[in-house]
Amino acid sequence: MRITVLSGGVGGARFTRGLLALLRDRLPDGRGGTTAEVTVIANTGDDMWLHGVRVCPDLDTLMYTLGGAVHEEQGWGRRDETSRVSADLAAYDVGWDWFTLGDLDLATHLARTQWLREGRTLSEATALLCRRWGLAEQGVRLLPMADEPVETHVVVADPDAGPGAERTIHFEEWWVRHRAALPALRFVQVGLGSAQAAPGVLDAIASADVVVVPPSNPVVSVSTILAVPGVRAALASTAAPVVGVSPIVGGAPVRGMAAQCLATIGVDATAEAVARFYGRRDDASRAGEDVGVLDAWLVDTVDAEAAEKLAADGWRSAAAATLMTDVPATARIAAEALALVGR
Ligand code: GDP
Ligand code: CA
Repeated sequence: MRITVLSGGVGGARFTRGLLALLRDRLPDGRGGTTAEVTVIANTGDDMWLHGVRVCPDLDTLMYTLGGAVHEEQGWGRRDETSRVSADLAAYDVGWDWFTLGDLDLATHLARTQWLREGRTLSEATALLCRRWGLAEQGVRLLPMADEPVETHVVVADPDAGPGAERTIHFEEWWVRHRAALPALRFVQVGLGSAQAAPGVLDAIASADVVVVPPSNPVVSVSTILAVPGVRAALASTAAPVVGVSPIVGGAPVRGMAAQCLATIGVDATAEAVARFYGRRDDASRAGEDVGVLDAWLVDTVDAEAAEKLAADGWRSAAAATLMTDVPATARIAAEALALVGR
C-alpha cells in the first residue's frame, strides 16, 4: 500500500501523523511500524533565508511532528524550546524581531544550511535531517516539492508610494508579521519558472495506490505544490484515486488565516467552494493548468449539506468528524478519507 500526501505545515503534518497511526494499526509490520509506504510531498513556498540560514517551515513542521519532537500546542517548532539566540540577536538590533528562531530549531537550520553549502540538494539535506527522527523506520519519506528555491511572495498595496502602487513581501512577512491583515492583491511563486519536481515526487504520485490532499491551506500550501511543473499532470494521469479532506469547517479554517488567502484568489471559505476550486479529475471542462485534481472530498459533519450538494453533482463526498483533536481522532479521519475511495 503506497500513499502519497501533498502537505503544508501544521494541518498536513497532523493529518499524516494520524494516517501513520491508522496504518500501524491496520497494516502492522510486526516491529511497531507499518508495511505501508507513505510519501509526503511538502510545500517549500514558505522557505526563506534568515540570519544566513535556510528556514523551511513546512518541512520542519512535518519532520518534528512525525518525529515526535513538535511543540504540541503551538503546532510547529520544537517542544522544550528556548529563544536565547534570538533574544541576543535582538540586542544587536539585527534580523526580524517578528520571526523567532528557537535555539534547538536553529540547529536544524544550521545543519541544513551546512549541507546546502557543501552542494547537497534540499532533498538530500532533508533526508539527512529526517534520519535523526526515525521517519524511515515509521514507513514515511519526506520530500520537498522541488530542490530549487520557489518562494511565495505576496503583492500588497503600497499607498505611501502613491495611488495604485504595489509592493511585494515574502509570504512569511505577510503571514507572521502582518497576521494576513494587510490586504493581499495576489500571490506569486518566485523561482517557479526554473524549478522542477524534486526526485521521487512525480513517481510517488504516479505509482501511488492512493493520493491524499490533507486539510492544508489550499492556496499557499497545496496550490504551490500543484504549480510545480508536472505535478498536476501526474495527478491527472495517476491510476490512484485522489481524495481530499476539507481544511474549512463550518465556513472557517479551524486555525490560522487561510480565509484571507482564499479571499485573495476569489474563493469562498466554504468546504464546497474549496472542493470546486480543486476540481474533479473527470471534469472535461478543465484542462492544462486548470485541470481538476480530486476524485473525492471529505467534509466535516457540520458541512453535511456541502457533501450532499457535491454528491448530487457527481462527486464522491461524505461528511465525518474532521477536527484533528488528537492522534486517534485524526486516525479516524484518515480512515474515513481512505474509505471514501475504497481503500
Ligand atoms: P501551515 O503550513 O502550518 O499553515 O499548515 P497547512 O497548510 O498544512 O494547514 C493549515 C490548515 O489546516 C488551516 O488553514 C486549517 O484550515 C486546517 N486545519 C487545521 N487544523 C485542522 C483540523 O483540526 N481539522 C481540519 N479539517 N482542518 C484543520
Ligand atoms: Ca506553511
